[in-house]
Amino acid sequence: MKKIVMKFGGTSVASGKKIRRVAGLVAKHVGRGYRVVVVVSALDGITDKLIEAAEQAEKGNKDYICKFRKDILKRHLAVARAAVENKHARAEVEQFLEATVDELEKVLTGIIYVGELTSKSRDFVLSFGERMSAPIVCGALRDLNFDSQFFTGGELGIVTDSNFGEANPLMNLTKHQVKEKVDPLLEKGTVLVVTGYIAATQDGITTTLGRGGSDYTATILGAALSAEVWIWTDVDGLMTSDPRIVSSAKMLSELSYQETSEMAIFGAKAMHPKALEPAMQENISVRIRGVSDPENPGTLIMKEPKTKPGTMVKAVNLVTNVALINVSGAVMVGAPGTAAKVFEVLGNGKINILMISQSVSEANISFVIQRGLLERAVSMLELALLGKGLIRSVTAEDDVCVVAIVGAGMRGTPGVASRLFTAIAQRGINVRMIAQGSSELNISFVVKESDGMEAVRAIHKEFKLNRIR
Ligand code: ADP
Ligand code: ASP
Ligand code: MG
Repeated sequence: MKKIVMKFGGTSVASGKKIRRVAGLVAKHVGRGYRVVVVVSALDGITDKLIEAAEQAEKGNKDYICKFRKDILKRHLAVARAAVENKHARAEVEQFLEATVDELEKVLTGIIYVGELTSKSRDFVLSFGERMSAPIVCGALRDLNFDSQFFTGGELGIVTDSNFGEANPLMNLTKHQVKEKVDPLLEKGTVLVVTGYIAATQDGITTTLGRGGSDYTATILGAALSAEVWIWTDVDGLMTSDPRIVSSAKMLSELSYQETSEMAIFGAKAMHPKALEPAMQENISVRIRGVSDPENPGTLIMKEPKTKPGTMVKAVNLVTNVALINVSGAVMVGAPGTAAKVFEVLGNGKINILMISQSVSEANISFVIQRGLLERAVSMLELALLGKGLIRSVTAEDDVCVVAIVGAGMRGTPGVASRLFTAIAQRGINVRMIAQGSSELNISFVVKESDGMEAVRAIHKEFKLNRIR
């Protein structure tokens, strides 16, 4: 049995027409003998709208929720009508959508009454995006006469810890449960449609895997089923840079797991940062490919691709929405444990650090975090460290971005950094902070936000990435 997990992101299921294209693609591969598990994201933009609604509910904004309910139902019904032709199948989907939106309204009303949005209730609200897109995709497949059924990640057996908002799968149990549930269905020809991004704790409480988490769902299922994973998206594969920034960006035909992880963590939005872990562990290949050119094989991500001689740098990415914090003070010099203390404070506040650098003088530590967490991070550090005299000052900048270059060929190749920073300096761009991991797969640096795109283009040009083969 040739099994395959196919994930379709928000942009690929944004309209009824697009969902029909997705169903057509699935049908084509079933016709070629594949047994397919489809993983879907929420319709484009819906997760952001759910976050906003949850926050408005917490503020007690009843009018907002009332309008939100109407709008979200209207959008999904319109998409369902365009996606599913068969009257019976369509009526089923419509009924399900109405019941689901009723449930969502009840949850939001509950938040209004309590006046509190916990990370647990927030995850529950966010789960509705995928819970509404999956039945529509399933309806479109039934329209094509497939025996199709939809499930939430939790229903299929994906269990996580209770780290709401960024939950971690319990892989052993998950693998066992998913296999037991999915294989017999695939065996009898069912095309499964699974909600990406959402899972459940062992007690059945809904959790989410972090933004962009449908990719992660796909690789978790791939690992459980020993199936290759295809991530279909709106670009033909992973590219030398974001094509929205560099119009001459080229598709990369092969990348290693490690290179891709470095790219994903540092901004290639095309993939969730943790999504490769399950694939790596089970040595499963992952393909990123584009729905608009489905015969293009896309980018194959595997253990050890052949690096073409002379290829040092493979990609340059821009990470926006970040902020830089600088913790300093002569008191830190030769005081063991200061760095540990700083990171403990941030860790306790569940603030993830994207990049770190400390000078040998030990008089300051700089690090980059997500911009939305800046205020909280600064006040936590001030409270815990300034007050006790462990540091002298905490300063922050929020108009910055990170530029990251990636490539396994940089390892042990002298001169990459000098070419890189010469190209940047020639454009008069000031570099605020630099970090290179000892893996030497990635060099990242911080510049002013307004210089980010120019820096990316300069590097793309310097390393002639438009000519990569
Ligand atoms: P999906 O909705 O399919 O999950 P995403 O928006 O998460 O899609 O990711 C696809 C987008 O990632 C592309 O439209 C592209 O603009 C962006 N992107 C950023 N960097 C890269 C890169 N290096 N290669 C490919 N795409 C990239
Ligand atoms: N819908 C979720 C998000 O927008 C998950 C995903 O699309 O992968 O983050
Ligand atoms: Mg995505």
